Amino acid sequence: ILDQRLQKVVSYIPQGAVLADIGSDHAFVPCYCIQQNLVERAIAGEVNLGPMEAAQAQVALVQLEEKIEVRLGSGLTVLRPGEATAITIAGMGGTLIATILEEGKTHLSGEERLILQPNVDAVDVRKWLLANGYALLSEAIVKENEKIYEILVAQKGEESLYADNLERREWELFFGPQLTREKAPAFVEKWQTEKQKRQYILEQMRRGNDSEVLQGKIETIERLIQKMD
Ligand code: SAM
Repeated sequence: ILDQRLQKVVSYIPQGAVLADIGSDHAFVPCYCIQQNLVERAIAGEVNLGPMEAAQAQVALVQLEEKIEVRLGSGLTVLRPGEATAITIAGMGGTLIATILEEGKTHLSGEERLILQPNVDAVDVRKWLLANGYALLSEAIVKENEKIYEILVAQKGEESLYADNLERREWELFFGPQLTREKAPAFVEKWQTEKQKRQYILEQMRRGNDSEVLQGKIETIERLIQKMD
């Protein structure tokens, strides 16, 4: 059984796809998709040996070695172009997801559906998609165990979700074009929390400055005292 976040990711995988799950610690997504008869075959890619072994163990446990191939390697480099028709990259920062896409783009045929779940910095993923001719098909936001996750679904093609207006587009890249329009409760909560985090940092910085001023005054008085001695 998958958690809500991964359930949502899986809901965007087309029926009958050949799936590649990149960063597939435990291979939960590939195993689930095969067990549900959602996909025909799957590849689980992992860059780290420990998680790769965990994925192999899980695949063996559910006896799906015939259908799921676990591969060790970084990002999309474990794939031959066109081998997978749907690619999931979930549970990492958006900057890392964008790097994986950029470094591995020669391993894409351009036909794949990309289902990406950045934990933070989704803006980096949106920017990569836009710069590389991918259209956002859909965006979703999920709250689970007090954490909020964004899911972006993309496919090569003409972009239609973003506004033409450049200023508006910058805004949408940051917050998400569909998410901004929908304003789901989790979306509102996410940005309220993000605002509070930044306000807190700002407060700490201001306090920091205050303490520097105070420190300066102490040193001035110390110099005065030394002169009086
Ligand atoms: N995808 C799963 C999920 O969403 O629950 C696992 C997320 S786990 C936090 C991130 C996984 O990505 C780790 O197992 C890590 O080893 C792997 N990873 C990090 N960078 C990677 C890369 N460049 N290529 C493949 N896997 C990577």
